[in-house]
Amino acid sequence: MLARSRWLSHDGGPVNAQHDIAGLTSLELKQLARERLPRGHGIAGRIYKDALRFGRFAPESYGLQPTAAAAWREHFRFELPRVVRVVSEETDTGTTAKAVLALHDGLECECVLLPMGRGRNTLCVSSQVGCKMGCRFCETARMGLLRSLSASEIISQLLVARHELGWDVRNIVFMGMGEALDNLQGLVPALRVLTDGAGIGMSQERLTVCTVGRIEGIRQLQALGMKRLNLSISLNAADDVLRSDLMPVNRVAKLAELSEVLQAYRPRPNFVLGVNYCLLPDMNLGPQHAQAVAEFCRPIGRVMVNVIPYNPGTAPLTRAPTEAEIEEFIEQLRSHGLPVRRRITKGRSVMAACGQLGNVELRRIRRKPSADLAGASGAQAEPRAAAAGVAEPNET
Ligand code: SF4
Repeated sequence: MLARSRWLSHDGGPVNAQHDIAGLTSLELKQLARERLPRGHGIAGRIYKDALRFGRFAPESYGLQPTAAAAWREHFRFELPRVVRVVSEETDTGTTAKAVLALHDGLECECVLLPMGRGRNTLCVSSQVGCKMGCRFCETARMGLLRSLSASEIISQLLVARHELGWDVRNIVFMGMGEALDNLQGLVPALRVLTDGAGIGMSQERLTVCTVGRIEGIRQLQALGMKRLNLSISLNAADDVLRSDLMPVNRVAKLAELSEVLQAYRPRPNFVLGVNYCLLPDMNLGPQHAQAVAEFCRPIGRVMVNVIPYNPGTAPLTRAPTEAEIEEFIEQLRSHGLPVRRRITKGRSVMAACGQLGNVELRRIRRKPSADLAGASGAQAEPRAAAAGVAEPNET
């Protein structure tokens, strides 16, 4: 699945088309430049650094002959998506902001800047437009999956955040729209670009992949051998009946199978698995639920349970938990010996909080394709959940 087709470039386009520099590693750019440019390929390293580190692409500025500079533009492109809008909310730790970006085919993706205190910001990036996983507590699920993002579209979220919006991004979490492990073709090259020292150069420790528990995806992520990369799973219930109700992925991969693959996922001795648990009043907050979480976590090894108070979207599954309910559940988890961190709610008022990303308008467009979208490449709805063995998203 991960092997590159000889007919496809890294950014998913045909080999003869322009390559998007944002989706390439420095070695790939150098190799492609050598193959395609008889003159001027020697500046590939500088071009790469300027694009990925400073967000600019100007082959004319390196003293090349005009024909050599034009050849760069003929074979390579570097175009960041347009910022459609930015909404923000002030919190104790700083400004939480959501940026909506226009993609080449008229669709949109969203990324969120999360202040983590002490001036450190995390960018929550999307890996897909919409999502087919159908988690009942999630706004994105209501869109269904429109399409996956290419590596360059994933990377572009960071580049726009840094160079167009001036956001100071330290860490990245793949926790925006979409299931990251349902898009390994975009995710894996994006991870390689993010950690390429000749460009963005982020350390693996600063990257976290979040998944609902795609078993094969977790295995393939492990096979990459990125030992410092962080992984978190979205648990939300530790009994099969409730989890299958909340998260259709559990109907095809039960908790026992998830546990088995997570027990085998030990990329380094001190690895700590993130276990995300969305608090849903009247559904998963009882003492029996806390005990089930502890029993699920015990054989896995070191974990950190991230408790996330539910953020109601446009068609809420339930209400947001009260402070007392949150504190009580955290205490129950701790009484079982689990380390717990509470995720402070950020961006709820501007639909930028966890589980609130998604553009319902795009969902309507998807149902009645406009002339624009119907003709745009890649904009067709991908086969929905059935193809992946996941239940249809809830139509609410
Ligand atoms: S929680 Fe994540 S995996 Fe589940 S539907 Fe929402 S975006 Fe998809």
